[in-house]
Amino acid sequence: MNTADFRSDTVTQPTADMRAAMLDAPLGDDVFADDPSVNALQDKIAAMLGFEAALFMPTGTQSNLCGILAHCQRGDEYIVGQLAHTYRWEGGGAAVLGSVQPQPLNHQPDGTLLLSDIEAAIKPDDAHFAKTKLLTLENTWGGKLLPFAYVQAATELAKARGLSRHLDGARLFNAAVAQAALKGTDPTDAAPPLVGDGPGQRSTRSGERGGDVYAQARAIASCFDSASVCFSKGLGAPIGSALCGSKDFIARAHRIRKMAGGGMRQAGMLAAAATHALDHHVLRLAEDHALAARLAQGLRGIAGLEVEAPQTNIVFVDLVGAARAQSAALQEHLKAQGVLITGLYRLRFVTHLDVDGAAVDRAVAAVRSFFAA
Ligand SMILES: *Cc1c(COP(=O)(O)O)cnc(C)c1O
Repeated sequence: MNTADFRSDTVTQPTADMRAAMLDAPLGDDVFADDPSVNALQDKIAAMLGFEAALFMPTGTQSNLCGILAHCQRGDEYIVGQLAHTYRWEGGGAAVLGSVQPQPLNHQPDGTLLLSDIEAAIKPDDAHFAKTKLLTLENTWGGKLLPFAYVQAATELAKARGLSRHLDGARLFNAAVAQAALKGTDPTDAAPPLVGDGPGQRSTRSGERGGDVYAQARAIASCFDSASVCFSKGLGAPIGSALCGSKDFIARAHRIRKMAGGGMRQAGMLAAAATHALDHHVLRLAEDHALAARLAQGLRGIAGLEVEAPQTNIVFVDLVGAARAQSAALQEHLKAQGVLITGLYRLRFVTHLDVDGAAVDRAVAAVRSFFAA
């Protein structure tokens, strides 16, 4: 029995076309800056997001680390969400490796940090305090699209107070697809259309609003001095992220990447996978969003489950009341049915290239059969 793996959008296998692109990639030694495939990817993603330059990174964690350290010196601090990846999920790297102090703030339910909290966290220039240098935001955050007006307001506030702005856009293209869909439809009826189940319908379908998706990605990125994007999440590449910013910023980040052990040699094979993903897997993220909506719809109405309406490709389902005691048994049941998820009391299902409508229906049926028993 093959599994329906909803644990993360990082579990995707490279497609046959992506593997072919990797094998065909012209290669050099990127530490000498002469790997043509790495250079092409860096030029492409920088231009796509409206930055001067970009740097290919093995992971999103290293990309964010190099970004924070390129913005901040020892004794500086960055303002960040309490649950943001750049604070909670990166091993404390900015503090451990850069002596940069995080200033975490609580999130609002929609993922935003209150402007008044940001304002209050910016320290005066006084020897008692770390120097507040940077605001980092994450979009999407927990699968939620930060409202664009909020992104503009928060980054304008930071700029007015002399802070740099970094975007952890691991899932920036999911945000762009969701933002384009919001713009393109009546906001009271923003649900994306359902998609078919056949493998042929899951490939590289392009949408008529494609131009708008790229425009939205650029609009979000334009609010920031730097942005990190992952190729290894919904875009389906086996590995890799890119850090984007000004030429000077990227030159500083390049030195830090080397120091962190991230100077890679014939990395063009990996960069080619990322370029293929940018060419073929951006607009199809709408299909992942539609499948997440279908999954959420299928799970509604089961006693003991509270299903959050997904905005992108992540569905959260809370176990409430008596259902909480059944958490471990539910996990076992789902695993036995070949459905893999994460979370104990707050279940997380992530849709991606390697799950289709049949996998979604199987997950729904597996949950329903557990609660029907
Ligand atoms: C996954 C993720 C990262 C880190 O990416 P890795 O490649 O796993 O290091 C950073 N930020 C966010 C928001 C992520 O989801």
